[in-house]
Amino acid sequence: MIPLLGEEEAQAAADAVRSGWVAQGPRVAQFEREFSARVGADHGVAVSSCTTALHLALVVLEIGPGDEVIVPSLSFIATANAVRYVGATPIFADVDLATGNLTVDTVDAVRTPRTRAVIAVHQGGVPFDVAALRKAADGWNVALVEDAACAAGSTAYGQPVGAGATIAAWSFHPRKVITTGEGGMLTTDNADWARRLRRLREHGMNVSAADRHASAQPVLEAYLETAYNYRMTDIQAAVGLVQLGRLAGLVTQRRARAERYRALLADLRGIVPVRDPAYGQSNVQSFWVLLGPEYGTSRDEVLAELAAQGVSARRGIMAAHLEPAYADLPSAPLPVTEQLTRDSLILPLHHALTDADQDHIVAVLRRLAGR
Ligand SMILES: *Cc1c(COP(=O)(O)O)cnc(C)c1O
Repeated sequence: MIPLLGEEEAQAAADAVRSGWVAQGPRVAQFEREFSARVGADHGVAVSSCTTALHLALVVLEIGPGDEVIVPSLSFIATANAVRYVGATPIFADVDLATGNLTVDTVDAVRTPRTRAVIAVHQGGVPFDVAALRKAADGWNVALVEDAACAAGSTAYGQPVGAGATIAAWSFHPRKVITTGEGGMLTTDNADWARRLRRLREHGMNVSAADRHASAQPVLEAYLETAYNYRMTDIQAAVGLVQLGRLAGLVTQRRARAERYRALLADLRGIVPVRDPAYGQSNVQSFWVLLGPEYGTSRDEVLAELAAQGVSARRGIMAAHLEPAYADLPSAPLPVTEQLTRDSLILPLHHALTDADQDHIVAVLRRLAGR
């Protein structure tokens, strides 16, 4: 993914630097307001990454040792790692082949009396079925954390992903649709959680450093609990505000590129491109294709040939349960996860991609078909 960063972002970062306020300050507060409004949530709490956002989500839910948290193995490894940060146990659930996402059935299959939460991912920007999973989680009395790292600008049931979420975690890493270099956000409609999250990201202080500096009176802060430094800087937020203005256009452009890929690939047997589920629209953060046996060439051979032709495709979404970091954790069989991680690849899709680039990539895939 090549992020679209222009003169406007450079200017905004320079303005933040010249203002003298470079740590968390007014631009972070503005970015929180504008981002949370854009995704349909009452509160936004900016943090240093989606990984730290996921960590704080579990802290605010008071999940800890002895608790189980159901996660997809088919995700960037940070989803599972966050569970271990609070001393709880990640339990891997399988995913749906078409969306790459958890479903009510795959979660229910691994649920136990110790299940306290589910972290469901909107994988690659494809929304999971929020109506079904939120309702099921309520019925099970289990908290639903939404890992929306990839999903800024995606929609479900006609609303932005994030609207109606108990708590959602977002990423602004350059691999995502909009970026602040590094950065993340928590969104929620729960004012008490938002207040505690602001404290948790800032050493447990009862008054933010920004408010303390802005006050005419001396303010003696108190440290209410052992917490973290997970703050975003105003330089990052300044870039984020410009990027947020680009979001709608970027999503439209990505969706058009994805549609063109699908049209060009339509007659190729054994290649199944990711598409929107019936209930929502993806921002196409990742455009993946799943190779079936009829295609005739293995995923790794395809990646090697694309690389030889100057195309930097990537393997599909990773599976955490296959990584050494999780070798000690027993897991139920995850056949769909293993199929997707083994047989899918992510094709290039960025703002600078041209029709000619796409034609070239598809020509390579066509040549490799049925060999
Ligand atoms: C990228 C990603 C993360 C981690 O985001 P960072 O901001 O890099 O910490 C977490 N979960 C998913 C699903 C991701 O794709």
